[in-house]
Order: sequence, then structure tokens, then C-alpha cells
Amino acid sequence: MLKTGFVGYRGMVGSVLMKRMAEENDFKDFEKVFFSTSQAGKTDTIAGETSTGILENAENIEKLKQMDIIVTCQGGSYTEKVYPQLMASGWKGYWIDAASTLRMKDDAIIILDPVNRNVINDALAKGIKCYVGGNCTVSLMLMGIGSLFNNNLVEWISSMTYQASSGAGAVNMKELLTQMAALGSAAGDMIYDPASAILEVDRLITEKMRSSDFPVENFKVPLAGSIIPWIDKGLENGQTKEEWKGVVELNKILMTKKQIPVDGICVRIGAMRSHSQALTIKLTKDVPIKDIYDILAAGNEWVKIVPNELEATRAELTPAAVSGTLTIPVGRIRKMNIGNEYLTLFTVGDQLLWGAAEPLRRMFNIVREYLGK
Ligand code: NAP
Repeated sequence: MLKTGFVGYRGMVGSVLMKRMAEENDFKDFEKVFFSTSQAGKTDTIAGETSTGILENAENIEKLKQMDIIVTCQGGSYTEKVYPQLMASGWKGYWIDAASTLRMKDDAIIILDPVNRNVINDALAKGIKCYVGGNCTVSLMLMGIGSLFNNNLVEWISSMTYQASSGAGAVNMKELLTQMAALGSAAGDMIYDPASAILEVDRLITEKMRSSDFPVENFKVPLAGSIIPWIDKGLENGQTKEEWKGVVELNKILMTKKQIPVDGICVRIGAMRSHSQALTIKLTKDVPIKDIYDILAAGNEWVKIVPNELEATRAELTPAAVSGTLTIPVGRIRKMNIGNEYLTLFTVGDQLLWGAAEPLRRMFNIVREYLGK
């Protein structure tokens, strides 16, 4: 019977993965072993009910070697440490990983099967065994507009992102909430009083945001009531690493022969767990907007075209509407006034689902299907 090891099942991505696997009834007909770097020897439950059995030590190479498939959401430093040891030990299994460490390696495939199933199928046939989830913003962009690429309609893209606090981890999500609570209490009952002077409310809030006791340990600056136009470390060319991933990962996922330029500014905003992005797309030719709608709608079964109207946009094209769902709304679609080959649109997606856990869950099933087990 196929043996699969799950590492990092307790983390944010891992928990969402376990929940999705339970929902889709994926935990059947294979032997599962759960690993932890800190809880080995204990037992735990997944998706709130099923027992993990005794947890194995996630750094025990001898134990890991017994797995046919390892699915890890443990993080980059774990992959960096354990993967080379496992490969050096002669392990021949399939490695499915959420961390970015191995993404750009020649013998690794970035997985997003609704968009690049052909690339995945070719890789399986060639015997490639390392499959890595992509950067969340890149995966969400491709889930929304992958069909434009597949129809060779994209000359270049400028992407301006609005990324949720969840992309920075669970601790940061909580810090955003403590910042919101601190701002709410700074103005006291004035926020409920229609007669209170707004300039006084604003003064109190701004003073709180700038005070030394405002909770900024993780974000370093206020995010509630503000934004941070910088994500990840800086590169010498002036981009951030998050912005660089946009071009390199997108082209690797699609296996483009000639690189399609993608660039823009990645911005952290005070949303909880869904990333949004505004795209400017230079088309390779002037395509009627009606055809653009049809091509986008045909992209995959999760894309939802939102009419370019106020009510529909408010109801369907926001993190509040999308979080916790697999739907990828694409809206505000129109040709720009600067020319008929310039398209603009806005898209949102849950970055813990399509941006992290869902491509791994699906890849696990693709490998099982490929192995016939
Ligand atoms: P995380 O929440 O920090 O979890 C990683 C590990 O931390 C867990 O597996 C667990 O390992 C340990 N841990 C320590 N204390 C914990 C606690 N109180 N609760 C739960 N786990 C605890 O990391 P993550 O956000 O899931 O990210 C995992 C990987 O996915 C990273 O490489 C990240 O870059 C990548 N990724 C993340 C996102 C995202 O939106 N967060 C999106 C795409 C990719 P032990 O059981 O071994 O202690």
C-alpha cells in the first residue's frame, strides 16, 4: 500500500491542506504517517477529528525514506536541511512541497494543475519527482487569467498587488487584529457618536498609530489604518523578492519559450486572508472585449467573471466575499483609454487555498493517479 508522509500538517498551510483533504475524502486507501519537528512521540488530530497516530520525528531520514510520497508544508529551512539528506540517502519517492526553496531548481516543477497540467504530465512521464507549490500571488493571478496566456494574448503584464496579512503568517494576522483593536479603543465612544468631530477622531487614531505602545513587533509599522508597499527582502535591481517571483515563477509555471515580462509593486494591506491584484495587460493584438470575457470565463471551473458594475463588484470582488472559498472572481474588466491593446482587470483569491494548500492536495492525487495507487 502506498505510504505517504505529511510534514508541517500543524501549520497554517498544513491545517488548510488537512481540512481540504478531509472535505474531499482524500484520506482513504493509503498508509499515512504524520511528522513533526517539535511534537514527535505525541499524538494529535487532523481536521479536528482523525487521529494522527504517534507523530514521527520530521528529521528522521530513515523513517522519511520509507515513504513513497512526502507532502511538506513545514517551510523553507526544513526543506533546505532535510531534502538534500534524503536525496543523498538514495530516496526515490515523490516530494510535494509548499516552500519556495526548490521552486527554481531545474529538476523541480511548479505546480498549478488547472493551468499547467500538461507541464506536470510531461514531468511525471520524464520521471521528475519534485513538485513545488508556487508563490501565492502568482498562482492566484494564473488561476484568474491563465487562459489569456494559453491563447497567446499576453505581451506583458504590470501587476499591482493588495496582499493580505495571512501571507505573512498566523502571528502577523493576529497582530493586525490587535492593531485594529488598539485603534478602535483609541477613539473610544467617539466612533459611535454621529455628532463627534471627525478631525478629533482622526487625531486620536493617528497619535495612537505613531505611539511607542502600538503593537508592531511583527509588521514593524502600522498595517491597520495604513499599508506597507514592500514584501520580502529587497534585490539589487530595486525590486522586492516578491515582485521578482512574479516574472520568474509565472514563466516557469507556463514553461514559456520566451520570457513574458511581468512587473509591478507588491503591497501588504490590512485584509485578513485573500490577496487581490490590479493588472494592466498589454495584449498581443486587439481582441474584442466580449471575446476576452469568453476566454477568461473558459479558463477553469473556479473563475467567475464579475460584471463591471458597482453592486456586483462590491458583492463579489473583495477579500470579504472570497475568503474560505475556491472561487476566483475576475472583474473590473475593460479596455483602457490608452489603447485597444491595453486591458485592465482586478482579481481576488484565497491565498491559503489556491495560493498554497489546494495545488498540493491536487498534486498528491495526481501522483496517486499516475502511480495507479
Ligand atoms: P507555519 O504556520 O509557521 O507552520 C510551520 C510549522 O511551524 C508547523 O508545521 C509546525 O511544525 C510549527 N509550529 C510551531 N508552533 C506551532 C503552532 N503553535 N501551531 C502550528 N504550528 C506550529 O507556516 P505556514 O504559513 O503554514 O507556511 C509553511 C510553508 O508554506 C512556508 O514555506 C511558506 O513559505 C509556504 N507558504 C505559505 C503560504 C501562506 O500563506 N502562509 C502560502 C504559500 C506558501 P512542527 O509540527 O514541526 O512543530
